[in-house]
Amino acid sequence: MSELETKQMKDAATRLDDIRRRMAASAVQADRLDSVSLVAVSKTFGVEDIVPLIAAGQRLFGENRVQEATQKWPALKAETPGIELHLIGPLQTNKLKQALALFDVIHTLDRPRLAQALAKERDGGATLPRLFIQVNTGEEPQKAGVAPKDADQFIAQCREDLSLPVEGLMCIPPAEDEPAEHFMLLAEIARRNGLGALSMGMSADFETAIRCGATHVRVGSALFGSRVRVA
Ligand SMILES: *Cc1c(COP(=O)(O)O)cnc(C)c1O
Repeated sequence: MSELETKQMKDAATRLDDIRRRMAASAVQADRLDSVSLVAVSKTFGVEDIVPLIAAGQRLFGENRVQEATQKWPALKAETPGIELHLIGPLQTNKLKQALALFDVIHTLDRPRLAQALAKERDGGATLPRLFIQVNTGEEPQKAGVAPKDADQFIAQCREDLSLPVEGLMCIPPAEDEPAEHFMLLAEIARRNGLGALSMGMSADFETAIRCGATHVRVGSALFGSRVRVA
C-alpha cells in the first residue's frame, strides 16, 4: 500500500469512529438501548473514496441515483461480504428493474404508481428490497414523498392492499426549518401505523434525529468530505 493510501485508510477510520461515537452519545442521551444503523452516503464519490471506509468496517452505503450506483457498486458488492446498498433518491419506474437488481433497501417509496410497479415485479417473481415510505413532512412542492395527511392511507395501501415489505418511514426536512419538528412528526406517523424503522438525519442533524428516534441515519459529507458536484 502506498503512503497516500495508508493515510486515506487512517482518515476514513478516524471519521467513521467520530460519527459512531457521536451516534452512541446521542443514543445514550435519549436513553436508547437499541442500535442505530449508519448509512454512509457515497453519492458523487468514487470507488477510491469508498474502499477506505469499507476497510474501516463500514458496510451500509447509500446512493441517490440508480445509474451512478450501477457503475460503482456491482464489483464492490461482489468482492465484499455483507455490503448493504440503500437507495435514498427518487426512483423512476423505468429504472425499477435495475434498482431491484442492486439495492437491498429503498428509502424512497413515494407514490402509488411506484407501489403498484413494485407489487407487479414481486408478482412476476422478483424479490423486493426492504422498503421505507418517504413522507414530505414540510409539504415542499419540489420534494418527493406523500403529504403527512395522506400518509396513513398510503401506508395502508402499500402494506394491506399490495402486501409490500414496508419497514418504516423516511423524511428530508426543509433546509430552513428546525429539523426536530419534522423528525417528531415522522416518528408520530410511524408510531400510529405500527412501523418500527425511521430513516432520518443527515450530517448536520443526525444527532437530533437519533434523539427523536431515528433507526437509520444517512450521513454523507461528514464521512466523505464535501461534495464538489451538486447532487
Ligand atoms: C445527500 C443525501 C444525504 C447525505 O447528506 P449529507 O448532508 O452529506 O450528510 C442524506 N439523505 C439524502 C436523501 C441525500 O440525498
